Amino acid sequence: MTTAQAPTPTGPEHVVVVGASLAGLSTARALRARGFAGRLTVVGDELHRPYDRPPLSKEFLGHLHAQVELSLEAEDENLDATWRLGERAVGLTPLPGGGARVELSGGDTVEGDGVVLATGASARCTLPGVGLPGVHVLRTLDDAVALRAALHARSDDGGRVVVVGGGFIASEVAATASGLGCRVALVVPDALPLSAALGPLAASVTRLHAEHGVEVVGRARVVGVRPADAADAAGVADAAEGLVVELSTGERVPAATVVLGVGADPTTGWLRGSGVTLDPAAKGAVRCDGTGATDVPGVYAVGDCAVWFHPGLGHHHPVEHWTSAKERGAVVAAALTGADRLPPSRPPYAWSDLYGRRLQLAGYTFLADDLETGGELQDGATLDDASFTAVFRRGGETVAVVSLDQPRVFAGIRRRLADPAPVTAPAVPAVPADATVATPA
Ligand SMILES: Cc1cc2nc3c(=O)[nH]c(=O)nc-3n(C[C@H](O)[C@H](O)[C@H](O)COP(=O)(O)OP(=O)(O)OC[C@H]3O[C@@H](n4cnc5c(N)ncnc54)[C@H](O)[C@@H]3O)c2cc1C
Repeated sequence: MTTAQAPTPTGPEHVVVVGASLAGLSTARALRARGFAGRLTVVGDELHRPYDRPPLSKEFLGHLHAQVELSLEAEDENLDATWRLGERAVGLTPLPGGGARVELSGGDTVEGDGVVLATGASARCTLPGVGLPGVHVLRTLDDAVALRAALHARSDDGGRVVVVGGGFIASEVAATASGLGCRVALVVPDALPLSAALGPLAASVTRLHAEHGVEVVGRARVVGVRPADAADAAGVADAAEGLVVELSTGERVPAATVVLGVGADPTTGWLRGSGVTLDPAAKGAVRCDGTGATDVPGVYAVGDCAVWFHPGLGHHHPVEHWTSAKERGAVVAAALTGADRLPPSRPPYAWSDLYGRRLQLAGYTFLADDLETGGELQDGATLDDASFTAVFRRGGETVAVVSLDQPRVFAGIRRRLADPAPVTAPAVPAVPADATVATPA
């Protein structure tokens, strides 16, 4: 259990949640579940009610007509909140008594003695060529609707889809596009896709891509995307594809559709100069203590826009996964309402679905003694097997588990995973208040 810092004895009267998605909704829900009876305002710049993002790169993208359930709300759910959807928060000013005034894009302001920042992350769009017709990113439902139409068109006309990125979303989009029958190339910065997340275990995902006909172009970074021109028609086969992806290797890859899955950055630019500390070491995420509190009293941050201090690791540790965004809403709600005990923190968990297989990760692989081995594969499995579980240890203690399509084995090991105990500072001998300090000669 973590102890909440400086709880407000009476709790806030009006909580303003900025960001109407998973982390914001989970916090609002947890506040009501704790009996918070004050006013609740939820501000969101999208017009949609809160929806779930994981299906956007998986089922939703793969089915043009089928109904894929995306809503995060139950049909009969009523949080007794004022929803200000389609309004963007553009500035924040701390209030003297705690909390803040939030300025909205339309010119209105909304004040709360409790404010929760839950603005998530935005797809990185810095490469030359972003904005060209045929070039996509994937973060929002609107992005997914556009990409889905493009992939289904490529499945019909045979045009090549080039997916760029070494992370989960790029691999998932490549897998989904291949499942639709598209010709797919996946361009990754490391030797293998998902190397940063999986280390040596990434070989298993590469094998899956190969089995499904996805061409992996490794150790290549995209320099830019541009429309194909006459010179390409002479030099590059298939220049009729319309776009050319230029790689750091000098290679030019023709494409009809390009998907840039090159990462996401916390959506916190609007907080610059507000007094809320942004952490440059965490891509500008809002810097919080272990309860989500920022250094502005009464202002908390949760989900992908925030980086929380981890007492067990002894430093701020970014986690950009669904489960943490959801679970930490309850911690913020408890801290905001002055609870003296907070929900326990659990090791981070993430999953990914690729070619009908479930990849699951929990814990902290970087804490393991020997990462080179890619953890200890259970039951004599190899990375060529269709499913495996790898356990990572430090001094005999399990610190992380990764599995491919072994959900039950994974769940058993995950249940026993504990968050590292708080790091205790080395004891400093107490100096009595009246002690005289000897000055070295
Ligand atoms: C395609 C995709 C697939 C994913 N798949 C998985 C998966 O399989 N497993 C997994 O563990 N995780 C997955 N994730 C990650 C997971 O969805 C995120 O961790 C989670 O959505 C974070 O929730 P959040 O509420 O913090 O942020 P978000 O979901 O990003 O929501 C933030 C909301 O705030 C709004 N907003 C931003 N700025 C402002 C502003 N200034 N004013 C008002 N509103 C604002 C945004 O428009 C958005 O609606 C996936 C993410 C994506 C994009």
